[in-house]
Formats: sequence, C-alpha cells, structure tokens
Amino acid sequence: MLSKIKKIAVVGAGFMGVQISSIAALSGYMVKVFDPSPEAPAKGIAELKGIYALKGLAKKEEMLNSAQEKIGYCASLPQALADTELIIEAVTENLELKKKIFNQIENAAPNHAIISSNSSSIPVAKLEDAVIHKERILNIHFDAPMIDLPLVDIMPGTETSAETIETAKAWVESLDCIPVVVKKPIMGYLGNRLWRMVKRESLKLWAEGYGDFMDIDRSWMLQFKAELGPFAMMDAVGLDVIYDIEMAYYNETGDPADKPPEALKEMVNRRHLGLKTGKGFYDWSDPAFLKADFVKKKTKR
Ligand code: NAD
Repeated sequence: MLSKIKKIAVVGAGFMGVQISSIAALSGYMVKVFDPSPEAPAKGIAELKGIYALKGLAKKEEMLNSAQEKIGYCASLPQALADTELIIEAVTENLELKKKIFNQIENAAPNHAIISSNSSSIPVAKLEDAVIHKERILNIHFDAPMIDLPLVDIMPGTETSAETIETAKAWVESLDCIPVVVKKPIMGYLGNRLWRMVKRESLKLWAEGYGDFMDIDRSWMLQFKAELGPFAMMDAVGLDVIYDIEMAYYNETGDPADKPPEALKEMVNRRHLGLKTGKGFYDWSDPAFLKADFVKKKTKR
C-alpha cells in the first residue's frame, strides 16, 4: 500500500531511531536522520546486531547494513527536516527534552509536516504546549526490537486531526507494520499497559522474594507459550529504560504499588543493564533462557 508520505526524518539515532529509519529506508522512503552524538548510529546498530546475532538472524543483519546505504545522516536538525512530510522523534525519554525538540522541529520543518513522537510513556498531548499546530502531532510508537513484532501504536493528542491519524496509519501499513489506534491519550498505549502489569507483578514477585526470576520466566513461557519470559524481555529492553518507564508511571499515579523496587535501581546503579552491558538478570554471554531445556528443568525427574 502506498502512502502520501515520500520523505521522512528521524530525530534521534539510538536503538529505536536506527530501527525506524532502517525499516522506512528499506520500504522505499527517502530518510534523513539527525542525532547530535556522532557515535549514536554506530552504537544503535551494534545493539541491534547483538540481538540479531543472539537470535540467529543473519539475514536481518544484512538488511540493516543495506539500509544504512540508503539513509542520509545529517549534521544539523534543519538539514534533516528540509522537505520532509513526516518527522519521527526518537530521542531520550525525557519530557523537557522532547518539548524542546518538538518546538525546534516545528520551527524548522515545512508547514505541512506531521510531527510524531515514538515515546514509550509520554503521550503527545503532554508536548502540545511546545507547538502551534497541534492538529499535526501524534504518537507513532514502534514496538521494539522490531524483528518479528511489527506492532505500531498510533495515538492522538487532544487536537490531532482525523487526517493526521489516517495519514500516519497508511504510512505505517506501507511499512508492512500493523497499526493499532488508541482513540484518546493515555500513557502506555494499549499493549504497553498490558505489558506493564506483567512487568510490575514479575518485579514484585522477584524483589519480595516469592520466586527466582528464572522460575517466573519459566512460568510465563510455559503458560503463554512465549519465547521469552518477562525478565529476559526486560533485559533486552535495558533495565535503565525499564526503571525510567516504571518511574514515569509512578510519578503519574503516585501509587506506592507502582514504584519500581529498590533492587532494580541497584542493578541499574551497578550498570547491570541487560543485553547492552552483557549482564542484567541474565548473563548475556551465555543466557540461560536460550538453552533448549530451560523451561523443562523443574519438571525433569
Ligand atoms: P537511545 O538512548 O538508544 O537513543 C536516544 C538518542 O537520542 C541518542 O542517540 C541521543 O544521542 C539522542 N538525542 C539526545 N538528545 C537529542 C537531540 N537534542 N536531538 C536529537 N537526538 C538527540 O533511546 P531509545 O531506546 O532509542 O529510545 C528513544 C525513544 O523511543 C524514547 O522515547 C523511548 O521511550 C522510545 N522507545 C524505546 C523502546 C526501547 O525498547 N528502547 C521501544 C519503543 C519506544
């Protein structure tokens, strides 16, 4: 399916920016990228390749390499935004930073451009103060890592036009991804709110000593026929990112039950961040959950 959009820009070339720009470039879009850190794309690509290698996805690595040749990495934001029709902001998860960047984007982008945020926990409604054209902003949230889960949340702010939503939906479909539309602003979209309940309960069971994290993963994997358990998934996302997201929910609700456990914070302080530092809940040089008998261990006689 073709979309009205031809040129896009991705702002932020970390773990998600690299994936979004690659998938768009491979789908035939002209893609420009800006990140103030010159090392960012290489770092994001290395993180992603680590995941592909673990999953034995050599083909994905090749695709990632070929996408890089099609992407225009720019030295400044205005350069990246010239002539773009759709901008995807994928910078560090920080409300004030995103507000500042949304304002800079609106000032530098063409008048007709749609501006979206890939934020996991910040509804675009919270960025509305930073822009004039509130009808052209929305969340386009790609799930990660984008290997075999092409799920994309599309969510309006309080004044987003129906046309903006429809254009974004058609663009996402043109990438062979599956858009799900959240009808009104809520933190965490649909799937992430469900995932969050699993995370919160898993962390509680582990931190309060009810179960070993591997047994919690085994329970989940067996019960729901899942390839990974919640702790392996949190390791893959990055425990610093998980901690920040859980804190964002806690700050939103003020409910003590939403506060992430101290034990998770200690892991973050020790730089046990999961896949990206090689050690989180699992040792990623030899992750237990990849072993064939991982889920069966407890049932062996
Ligand atoms: P990341 O830390 O890997 O990358 C963030 C990038 O933003 C960095 O490269 C940084 O240099 C760049 N940046 C900082 N200030 C900037 C600026 N002023 N202009 C342009 N770039 C700037 O983070 P990530 O994991 O890619 O997350 C990015 C966004 O995507 C966040 O909003 C996050 O919530 C969301 N997200 C993350 C995941 C995930 O699994 N990591 C999944 C879905 C959505």
